[in-house]
Parts: sequence; structure tokens; C-alpha cells
Amino acid sequence: MSEINVQVVDGEQKQFPGDATVAVAIAELLSNKQRKQTVAAGVGDTLVDLSVRLDSLGLDTVELRPVTLSSDEGLDILRHSTAHLMAKAVMDIYGPDLKIAIGPSIDDGFYYDFDRMKPFTPEDFEAIEAKMLETVRGGIPFEREVVSRAEAIELFEKKGELYKVELIKEIEDDTVSLYQLGDFVDLCRGPHVPNSSFLQVYKLIKVAGAYWRGDEKNAMLQRLYGTAFADKKMLKKYLNDLEEAKKRDHRKLGKELNLFTISDQVGPGLILWQPKGALLRKLIEDYWKDEHYKHDYELLYTPHIAKLDLWKTSGHLDFYNENMFSSMDIDEVQYQLKPMNCPFHIAIYNSQMRSYREFPLRWCELGTVYRYERTGVLHGLMRVRGFTQDDAHIFCRPDQLEDEISNILELNLKILETFGFDQYDIYLSTRPEKYVGSDEHWEKSTDALKQALEKRGLEYQLDPGEGVFYGPKIDIKIKDVLGRSWQCSTIQVDFNLPERFEVNYIGEDGKEHQPIMIHRALMGSLERFIGVLIENYAGAFPIWLAPVQARIMNITDAQSEYCKKVYRELRQSGIRIEKDLRNEKLNYKIREAQLTKIPYMLVIGDREVESDTVTVRERSGKNLPPMSVEDFATKIKDECKAVLG
Ligand SMILES: [Zn+2]
Ligand SMILES: [Zn+2]
Repeated sequence: MSEINVQVVDGEQKQFPGDATVAVAIAELLSNKQRKQTVAAGVGDTLVDLSVRLDSLGLDTVELRPVTLSSDEGLDILRHSTAHLMAKAVMDIYGPDLKIAIGPSIDDGFYYDFDRMKPFTPEDFEAIEAKMLETVRGGIPFEREVVSRAEAIELFEKKGELYKVELIKEIEDDTVSLYQLGDFVDLCRGPHVPNSSFLQVYKLIKVAGAYWRGDEKNAMLQRLYGTAFADKKMLKKYLNDLEEAKKRDHRKLGKELNLFTISDQVGPGLILWQPKGALLRKLIEDYWKDEHYKHDYELLYTPHIAKLDLWKTSGHLDFYNENMFSSMDIDEVQYQLKPMNCPFHIAIYNSQMRSYREFPLRWCELGTVYRYERTGVLHGLMRVRGFTQDDAHIFCRPDQLEDEISNILELNLKILETFGFDQYDIYLSTRPEKYVGSDEHWEKSTDALKQALEKRGLEYQLDPGEGVFYGPKIDIKIKDVLGRSWQCSTIQVDFNLPERFEVNYIGEDGKEHQPIMIHRALMGSLERFIGVLIENYAGAFPIWLAPVQARIMNITDAQSEYCKKVYRELRQSGIRIEKDLRNEKLNYKIREAQLTKIPYMLVIGDREVESDTVTVRERSGKNLPPMSVEDFATKIKDECKAVLG
């Protein structure tokens, strides 16, 4: 038998007989500590089980990359393996009356879909977790077997696992791989951890309905979600964060704080802003408009519908059709609800001849767009069918591109910081396989984006080939207080629309040229951004954003008139205040104000009336010494100024 040369990436190398496994090579080439952490190995672009024979890799020299539990890949394998473990436990307990579907790993855990009449309950979770532990203690190996498609179909048909049969029938290869964990067999590509003793730390999280293959016409399955980690501490932190996230759920807080509502009568995915939410939105919009004014932008307003032909010219009818609502007939002409604002801004551009002297043109609009999303994916303010983009389009000359991107970045990060987000990840996406525009344009623009990022000293990750077909882009994902990432800002260069709409300007040479067009949204959509804000602040907005900054309350009826007078004065001076003059106990009123997370309570008794002052109580419960009404107004204004400048 020929020997195979094995080298660990950046490490030792040695000859091994062909029938030796990857595990044997790893055992000899790695230190004890590293070896214990290793759950699989990378060979080129593929990941393999440790139990794989070296000669099955078909290479004379194998470069092995150990995959450890501390890596994302390793954690993914751990979670995916735990999905098998859970499915085995479910089969062990409920076997005869259910069928298995699929069980992948996901961002923070894994799930497995089951077809079972009876819904899973919290008691079931405990039983399943206990059963999983039995398998873990048994240290049962994951065993891989490659069989022909026909054999696999026969095997699963015999078991009555029709979902698996359906999947195998669609596989084009002649063979498929099966994995066995004890008596539980699953169709899977692998790899997995060597045996079940690696799967010590796991927890079932929740159950939800899921259509087979995500199609509403198919059977509704039960999706059991779980998570797994390499150590107990990480699981504990994850569960704590999950609890915290539940408390901060914007749908729950949105209701409690009376910010927004969604009505069945109006339609799913369509947001109705309650007075307090509308005020919150106005504050954000005002701030946004002021900042854009300071940064030399001009404001536009455009309609919500346009002739269908506009969307033919823009190309949206071809490449964006599935996200658009059906068109409507107006005087025998087809019209379309807008999914984007861009063509309107272009129409304004094209309404007159443009000269290079006008550039850059920076046009912004809080533009409301409508996009089709399946009901199943709609989620509070986060996924909706109508939303307002904080949109802008910039038209400039190629030599202005880098400066423009740099200006956008400055404004972008300033706005995010004002809202309390100073942690973010920046991505630069470059030319994909299918694209429009010349190679030269792509290169120069991508370079301009890079330069702008680098000159601002911003760290970024390159996403090669992930640009949109019409140009390179920068995406910014913000991190909230729980460390969760949210895609918000996007800055995109576009070579497509200027071409399609014949967007031109007269250059210094007196000839027509095509300008550079940039699309950008900083918050993304107001709906989603406000959803993120609610969760980030747990509804306790900073003073400049709080729809209600203060609530005034009397101790007895004797102070009612004074309260009304103070209320009017503060309202006149622009303080967002409300009053609670009900005949209730003071403690009750304070508790209620605290629940609605109002930053300041003004408590008025006889002493305050006599001295013409207010006693201020903070959201935290701390009491401030009595102060004049004017001083209180100044205090709030100063606090807002400290943020807004
Ligand atoms: Zn698997
Ligand atoms: Zn656009």
C-alpha cells in the first residue's frame, strides 16, 4: 500500500499508510490539547470526518486543517451533530407516530423538522433532553456509509420516511452518504463530531410551525429549535441574552408603550403608528432632515405610484418582479405601486439639462415603498410590506466619487452614533459573476470605495463577488447592546440605471457624459430602524428621542390647577410632557409612569405650589431637589443639546 504524505497547515508533516484515518494523522501531528479540541478536518475547500481514510481523499499529499470547537466551522459541526442527536432522541421516544424531515444548523443553533400530529410541549422538551443525555453518555460514534441512490430510497421507503425519499430523488449524484448514530440513520453530507460524547452542552429552545420546504401548499411540520455550545458558560450567556431579548421584543414593547399596531382589517405587514410612535418617528425624521441639510443635501418628495412603463425602463419588472405588488389600471393605463424611489429621482434629474458645474447633486427623500413579502416571514416592524426608506441619490462626476463616498460615510457614522450605535461591521462587496458596466468602471469605483474607507481609517471586510449586478457597495451592520447585528446602511454605486434612463450631463468639454449615480440609505428603513431602537433601548429612549420626556402628577386635587399651569408652560416651551391628575395614590401614578419608561416625573404637592417649583424624579427612581419650571425646561433642553449639538 502506498504511503500518503500528510502535513498539518503551518505544522508538522509525516508519511502514513493509506488505510490510516485522518484521526490517526491528527493524533500524531498535533499536541494533546489541540487534538482534544479537533472535531473534523479541512482538506482544500471541503470538510471531512476524522474517521475518513486518508486514501479515500484521492491525494498523494494531504494538507490537513484541523477544525476545532473554538472556530465557527467547528461550532457549526457541533450544532449540526446535535440536530442528529435530538432527532434520534425524538425517534426513540415518539418513533412510530412521526416522520423526520430536515435538520440543519443555523446562526445560533439548529433545528429539526418533524411531521407529528400531536404538538410538542415543554414536558416533551424535558423528556427529549433527558433522552439525548443517554446517547451522549453512551459515546456512540457517528458512522458514515456511502450507498447508491436506489439503496437509499429503498431504505427510507421501508422506514416510511417519505420526506427523505423525496429529497434523495432530487439528488443528481449516483451515490449518497448516510450517517448512523446508534440505530438512527439520516441522509447527510456531514461532517460530524466523531462521537456523541462531544455533544455535552445543548438546550431545546422552542417549537414553531414550518411548512415542508417553506411552501404554504405543503404539509405544516413542527420545527424544534435547539442550541449547542462547546462549554456551559457560553450556553448560560446565550440563554440569558435570549431572556433579555424576549423582554426587549419590539412587538411586546410596541404594544405596552403604545407605539404602533398592526391590524388584521388593514392588512399584514402594514404599520399603523400610534400617537406616541408617530411622535418618535417625527423626532427621527426631523433630526434626519436637519443633518442632511447641514451636509448639503436637498429634500425631495415623490408619489407612491407610477406608470408600469417606468418600471419596464428601470428593469425592475424583470429582475424585481416577485417583490412587486400587482399593477393597477387607471384610465386604461397600467400603474404600479413603487418598490423603490430611484426612478422618480432620475425623472427629476432628467427634467432639465444638467451641467458638470451643478455636481454633486445630493437628493434625499424619506420615501415610502411597498414590497411583497410572504405572510410567513412578516415580523413586527422588522419585516413589513410597506416601509419608508431614508433614501438618497447622489449624481456626481467620476473624479468626485471618492469624496462623495467619504462624505456619506461621515454622515452615516455620525447619525448611527447619535442613535447610540458605535459598534459596527463594514463590508465592501465587489463585482459578481453577472454584471453590467465596463470592467474599468467597476475597478475605478471599487477603488474609490476602498480609498474612502481607508482614508477614514475604517476597518472593513471584503466580500468578493457579493456586489449587486449594477455596481460595488458598502454595507454597514450595527451591533446593539446585546451584541446582535442588524443590517442598516448601504451605499451602492450604480452603472445600470443611468444607462437605462439615458442620464447625462454636459461636461467641461461641452460633450454629453454619464454621471456616477450613488444610492444610499443610512438607517435602511424607518420601521426596521425604530424596531432596532426599541429593542436596543428596551423602550427607555434617551431624552432627545423619548416621545414623552416628562409626566406631571399631583398628590391631591388641591394641586390640580398648578399642575395644569406648569403643564401648559412646559408644553409651550417645547417640552414633551403629559399630565396625570387622576384621583389615584401617588405611588400608583409613579409606578405607572415608570412602566411606560418616561425619563422624568414631576411630583407636585403643596410645598411645590407654594414655592412655585417642581420636584423631579428620574426614571431610575432618584429624586432631584425642587427646581423652578424654567430650570427644568433648560435642563431637558441642555440634555438634548448634548446629543444633537
Ligand atoms: Zn448531518
Ligand atoms: Zn435608489
